[in-house]
Amino acid sequence: MAIPKVKLPADARPDTLAVREGLPPSQYGENSEALYLTSSFVHPDAATAARRFANEEEAFVYSRFSNPTVTMMERRLAAMEGTSGCIGTASGMASILMLILGLLKAGDHVVCSQSVFGSTLKLFQDFAKFGIETSFVSQTDVAQWRAAMRPNTKLLFAESPTNPLTEVCDIRALADIAHGGGALLAVDNCFCSPALQQPVKLGADLIIHSGTKYLDGQGRVIAGAVCGPEELIETKFVPVMRSAGMSLSPFNAWVVLKGLETLSIRMQAQSERALTLAQWLEAQPVVERVYYPGLASHPQHALAMAQQSGSGGAVVSFIVKGGREGAFTTIDATRICSITANLGDTKTTITHPASTSHGRLSEPQRQAAGIVQGMIRVAVGLDDVEDLKADLQNGLAQLA
Ligand SMILES: *Cc1c(COP(=O)(O)O)cnc(C)c1O
Repeated sequence: MAIPKVKLPADARPDTLAVREGLPPSQYGENSEALYLTSSFVHPDAATAARRFANEEEAFVYSRFSNPTVTMMERRLAAMEGTSGCIGTASGMASILMLILGLLKAGDHVVCSQSVFGSTLKLFQDFAKFGIETSFVSQTDVAQWRAAMRPNTKLLFAESPTNPLTEVCDIRALADIAHGGGALLAVDNCFCSPALQQPVKLGADLIIHSGTKYLDGQGRVIAGAVCGPEELIETKFVPVMRSAGMSLSPFNAWVVLKGLETLSIRMQAQSERALTLAQWLEAQPVVERVYYPGLASHPQHALAMAQQSGSGGAVVSFIVKGGREGAFTTIDATRICSITANLGDTKTTITHPASTSHGRLSEPQRQAAGIVQGMIRVAVGLDDVEDLKADLQNGLAQLA
């Protein structure tokens, strides 16, 4: 039994792949994908079982490393990212752990943006004790990436845009630096998702996802994935999954799988609302600065538009007058926005980065990172943007 493919025209477009790529239906002909809640799979006889365990015959064996619902999610996400392979993981962080365990060994060196997700930064730092050293460089200064390259550099790791400052890196330039030094470029595509940005088209080798964010899109599950060439997935990452078991649960895979069907229209609608909100915020006298790649005032506006399908994404950060007090007043006056550090939900979320996601940094570290006390991050959902303006205006009016 080879695992079958869905019959689709070879030139099927992304929106079609997003609702149909996966596995063919079972013998029952279900139209919505089945949820295979089973830990193991039964073999017709002992000899077949032996062949399957020896990887001589392709089949589902044990859900730590293969499950039809997880495979459907992997195939669909790979199709959307434009990669030949994908492996689902238990969380976004598990996908980065998978990347490190699969690709690197003691004595290897990594170059990573200093503006990546906090836990990502911490994870790379933690691997120093296993002999894998990481140099952290500017998100936006390509020369720093080039200067950090060493003969033992095996991986470059970037995220674009970043949280909460929405800094954009030049993916094509970083891919060229990586390949010039015999290294791979991995990009965390959490903030744009493949609906807006396909890093492999810009030369990236591997794509990291927190499925928890836009892929699920409704704040229900924790999930992750690594997308890349099938050969690399099969030889480097599947063996790690078999032995280390940071497996994606079939239920969570099913939720993400169904989320992918609406990803493109959600990203479009949420990004449109974010742009409207960012433009409105920029016009408010008590707002000192707005960070949003879709605004002409953003330092990497042109690059962002070129890399992100002309869209700024759905995350907007801004600085209000009055520092921490001003930010807390604004957040506490909202009646619609959810006060939570999560993002990628249809429900708009609002957070104070300096005391939550970046609360563990020292004040000088935060200042250096540009995350000031007056900063607020809004991850725009599907709420009506006029309601969101009114929700923020409640607090902003008190700062005037
Ligand atoms: C949330 C997030 C992660 C981690 O994902 P989890 O699913 O929470 O483990 C990684 N990268 C970015 C950019 C994120 O926003």
